Amino acid sequence: MTSRRIPLVAGNWKMNFDHLEATYFVQQLAWKLRDARFDYKRCEVALMPSFTSLRSVQVLVESDKLRIRYGAQAVSVTSQGAFTGDVSADMIAHLGCSYVIVGHSERRKYHPEDDANIVDQVRAVLAAGMQPILCVGESYEERRKGIELDFAVGQVHDVTRDLSDEEASRLIVAYEPVWAIGTGMVATPQSAQDAAKAIRDDLTATFSTTVGDTVRILYGGSVSSKNAVELIGEPDVDGFLIGGAALKVDELTKICRLTLEATA
Ligand code: PEP
Repeated sequence: MTSRRIPLVAGNWKMNFDHLEATYFVQQLAWKLRDARFDYKRCEVALMPSFTSLRSVQVLVESDKLRIRYGAQAVSVTSQGAFTGDVSADMIAHLGCSYVIVGHSERRKYHPEDDANIVDQVRAVLAAGMQPILCVGESYEERRKGIELDFAVGQVHDVTRDLSDEEASRLIVAYEPVWAIGTGMVATPQSAQDAAKAIRDDLTATFSTTVGDTVRILYGGSVSSKNAVELIGEPDVDGFLIGGAALKVDELTKICRLTLEATA
């Protein structure tokens, strides 16, 4: 990463950790990053706990003035009413969340989340003053056919094309090839760069150079301390969305430190 975009290391905890475990993890991460004199101004760190842990994380972060940010893993497209089990963007925003993951491949697979629903989630998150982390990426099948770049670009384009420039500039995109998620198979730095660059070029063409230059594009899929430095060395890769490695506090601390050092 060679630009002036601030890198973001975001941990997606999925359905792991209850509120006590979440609180303990955040404390440990904050201690370890403090000991390492971590500069949060030059690298953002964020965690995405379950809904049930958000309030506990908020209380800890606010009372100890921690610099770690946090967000949710999904959001309802409606603002209130008879939608049993749903959580609105305003409810999430009122807990101090900065981000919401939208369109993660596990949500697309296990829930009725199609492009129309994902557009509405993005809009709901933006309207509530937070940043959506829009997940896109090809399956093994699209990669085998050699259409992975068109596929990922198309997923971003279809969901974002009707946003205003101001809204688009607040997007974060996570390029997460589905075959790399939780498998131990990581995209090569070159293929992560190719996808990030193709997505950025499309944002520039659809909106403006400012939008293209501003939007952070993360890589996700089996990121670890062993591959983070090479990936973040690519000019259009602005950080990571991390699943498995974000459940181990030493490993996550290491990835944060390596990302900061590599982008200094
Ligand atoms: C994810 O689920 O967003 C993810 C990238 O998972 P993992 O790091 O475990 O591949």
